[in-house]
Amino acid sequence: MRVVVVGAGLAGLVAADRLAAAGADVTVLEARDRVGGRVHGLEVAPGVWVDAGAAYLGDRHTALLDLLADVGLKTVPTGMEGASRFALRGPAQTRPGRFPPLSAVALGDLFDRLEALTRRVDPDAPWAGADAAELDATTAADWARDHLAHPDARTFFPLFLGEMMAAAPEAVSVLHMAFYLRSGGGLSYLNAFEGGAQDARVDGGAHRAAQLLAERLGDRVVLGHPVASIHQDAHGVTVDGQWRADAVVVAVPPLLADAIDFRPGLPAPRAGRATVPGCAVKVHLVYPAPLWREDGLSGWSVSAAGPLTSTVDDSPAGGPGVLTGFVTGADAHRFAALGDGERRAAAVRQAARLFPGLGEPVAVHVTDWVHERYSRGCYAALMGPGDWIAAGPRIAAPVHRVHWAGTETSTEFFGLMEGAIRSGHRAATEVIRHVEGAS
Ligand code: FAD
Repeated sequence: MRVVVVGAGLAGLVAADRLAAAGADVTVLEARDRVGGRVHGLEVAPGVWVDAGAAYLGDRHTALLDLLADVGLKTVPTGMEGASRFALRGPAQTRPGRFPPLSAVALGDLFDRLEALTRRVDPDAPWAGADAAELDATTAADWARDHLAHPDARTFFPLFLGEMMAAAPEAVSVLHMAFYLRSGGGLSYLNAFEGGAQDARVDGGAHRAAQLLAERLGDRVVLGHPVASIHQDAHGVTVDGQWRADAVVVAVPPLLADAIDFRPGLPAPRAGRATVPGCAVKVHLVYPAPLWREDGLSGWSVSAAGPLTSTVDDSPAGGPGVLTGFVTGADAHRFAALGDGERRAAAVRQAARLFPGLGEPVAVHVTDWVHERYSRGCYAALMGPGDWIAAGPRIAAPVHRVHWAGTETSTEFFGLMEGAIRSGHRAATEVIRHVEGAS
C-alpha cells in the first residue's frame, strides 16, 4: 500500500506514523522547511525552548498524552499560583485568583448563557442538531448584542472569545462558537488551568512531539514541498505529477486544501464561504527570572486595551522568566501590521504597566501567525454563518482515494492538538480499511 500524506503537522505525522507501522509505504510532503505546523518551538536562551504555537493541554487530551508517552516526552504543570492583574477599566489592579474585577452576576449570566448554547449543539454532527440552522444563521457579535445587556458582560465576552478561540465575535457563527466550546470539553474545562485544558505544557516544547515523530519516519518526510495538485484516476492517485499512491491523506487546514488543484474536482470547497483564519500573535518577553512571582503575582493578566489581551507565566523550570502575551482576533491583524520595533515597544510598555518594577526584558520575541502562509487558521479556521450547515457534513468524508485529517476535521477537541491527533488516527484507520477493502 502506497500512501502520500500532505502536511507534516501533528495530524499528518500521526497518520503517517500509524500507516508506516501498518506496513504502508508512506511519503509525507510538507510545504515548510520544518515539521510541526502550528506546533513550533522558540529557543529563548541557549537550550531553553518555549512554545511559539500550541502549548497547553489537559487530562482529557488522551491521544496527545499517549503520543507524548510513546515518544518519551513529559509534561510540566502550567502553575498559576499567585494573584492576577487586570486592566479592564482604568489603571491595572491586582486580584486574588483569576476572576476579573467585573460584576459576578453579569459574568455568571454570560457563562450560563454560553453553557445553554453549547447544550443546543449536536457534538458529533454540529450541522445536524435540531437548532443548527438557527444557531448557524447569526454571528456571535449579533448574539452578544441581543443577549448581553450588562456592560461588564459586553466588555468580557470578546476577551473571552479571543482567548479561547483567537476569534473576534464578528468572525464566527453562534453555532461555531457553541460547538468549539462543547467540543473542547465545555466552558469551565477549556478555560481552566489546574484540572482543565490548560493544566500543563510539554516539557521542552510541544514541537518536540512532531520532531520525534518525524525522526521516526526518517527520509519518508520531504520538506519544502508545497503540494499543488492531486489527480485521481481509476487505478490510483498522483500528487504533483510525481508521487503515485493508492491513497492520499490531506492534513492541511481547509483554506489551504482549497488552494490545491483536485481532479476530478471536489464536490464542494473544504471551507465555507464565510470561513476565515483565526489569528493570534504570541509575544514572549524574557526576563532574567520570573520576577513577578516575588510580588505574589502569577503572571496572568487580562487587558481590555491591548496589544496583549492576556499574559501567562511560561517560565521553564530553572530557566529565565518568560511572560507570554497573546494578541488575538481583530487586534492580531492590527498588531501584525505594525513594524517590528513598534510591536516590541508596545508589548514591553504594556508589560511594564501590568507588572511594575519588572524592568527591561532581556529579549522580546514576536511570533506572527497572521502572516504564516502555510497555517491560515491560528489557533484554527473559524466558521462563519452558514459554514457548518454547508461544509460540515463533508468535513471528514473521503472523496474516493482522498482522505482528510487536521484539527478542523475533528468534532472532538476541534482546533486543539488533541483534535489534530485524533483526526490523524481516524484518517489512517480509514485508509487501511479502504485500501484493504479494495484489494
Ligand atoms: P497544522 O499544524 O497546521 O499542520 C498542517 C501542515 O501542513 C503544516 O505543517 C503546513 O506547513 C503544511 N501544509 C500546508 N499546506 C500545504 C501544502 N499545500 N502542501 C504541503 N504541506 C502543506 N492547541 C492546543 O491544543 N493547545 C494550545 O495551547 C494551543 N495554542 C495555540 C496557539 C497558537 C498561537 C496556535 C497557532 C495554535 C494553537 N493551538 C493550540 C492549536 C494547535 O496548534 C492546532 O490545533 C494543531 O497543531 C493543528 O495541527 P494540524 O496537523 O491539524 O495542522
